[in-house]
Amino acid sequence: MRKTAIVRDERYLEHRPGSFHPESPKRLDAIYSVLEAPDRAPLFWDLPARPATRDELLAIHKSQYVDMILSTAGRKRRSLDPDTAVSEGSCEAALLAAGGVCEAVSEVVSGNVDNAFALVRPPGHHAENNRAMGFCIFNNLAVGARYAQQMHGASRILVVDWDLHHGNGTQHSFEEDPSILYYSTHQYPYYPGSGAHTQGGRGEGAGYTVNVPLAPGHGDNEYMGIFEKTLKPIGLEFKPDLILVSAGFDIYQNDPLGGMGVTPRGFAGLTRSVLDIADACSGGRVVMTLEGGYNLKGLQESVLAVVREMAGVTETRPETPWSDQAVLRVETAAEKVREVHGGLWKGLGVKTG
Ligand SMILES: [Zn+2]
Repeated sequence: MRKTAIVRDERYLEHRPGSFHPESPKRLDAIYSVLEAPDRAPLFWDLPARPATRDELLAIHKSQYVDMILSTAGRKRRSLDPDTAVSEGSCEAALLAAGGVCEAVSEVVSGNVDNAFALVRPPGHHAENNRAMGFCIFNNLAVGARYAQQMHGASRILVVDWDLHHGNGTQHSFEEDPSILYYSTHQYPYYPGSGAHTQGGRGEGAGYTVNVPLAPGHGDNEYMGIFEKTLKPIGLEFKPDLILVSAGFDIYQNDPLGGMGVTPRGFAGLTRSVLDIADACSGGRVVMTLEGGYNLKGLQESVLAVVREMAGVTETRPETPWSDQAVLRVETAAEKVREVHGGLWKGLGVKTG
């Protein structure tokens, strides 16, 4: 067993973007309730959330934007963008979401726990430095990554984003920075529109943004195969001292916003790939943060599967044999990554065909 921490806080439920909004408090309600079963308690340690400090937020966000969000505290609901609204409790929840990730980072990097999952909302990976976007207010993971570097001396951080959507905000935060490697699988073309495989980082960060755009219909073996063929060789060569994961569950097979086919077993397998890299490079240090996922049953079963894998209860590997379609899809995705990144990341192997 590994020592796994969970960040959860009832104040995250006070972010209420609207009665019919898919990013609803019911999401965390569903997850928290499944973790409360008595037989689940030995799986994890509870870690209290705390608000992010202004300095922590300013490592990613513009001060005028932080001030604007702070000014919404206690005010009635208003829209920040076509998909994103704030209610009375949203500012506090957003501060606690970014701070919750920092707290998880702190515990993991200090060695108090092996890994951690910040079960927070609002999500973060679409938030840009100066604006809210796509249900996100602060970029929780990006704030946590800079916090790890500035307060805990982390030097190289691997960010894995398996959410259905491309994490435009995270990519933009780090695309010129070779110390933070951003790897994303996402449905494409789709919201938010960014994430073409040719977007591979800029300036000194060239090669340190890896985008794996996918057509709808990818399931467990395809996702696990793509991680094994692309994430793993790049991750092992990059040698991160910390891994952060934007864990979105909207690639679940019955998610109302997505077209992917991942089951709880697949989420456990993706977690295993990440843990394998962490065990080889970063002393097992992994911090996950919740992004999307809008099927409540899918969230319950999939988050539990991830936590069990993180805690070392299960060890999930791809099942064989694979269908011809799965083999072809994995190779197609890997070829696109090789095309852009094969020169820098030798572990990807030689270009084929
Ligand atoms: Zn998403």
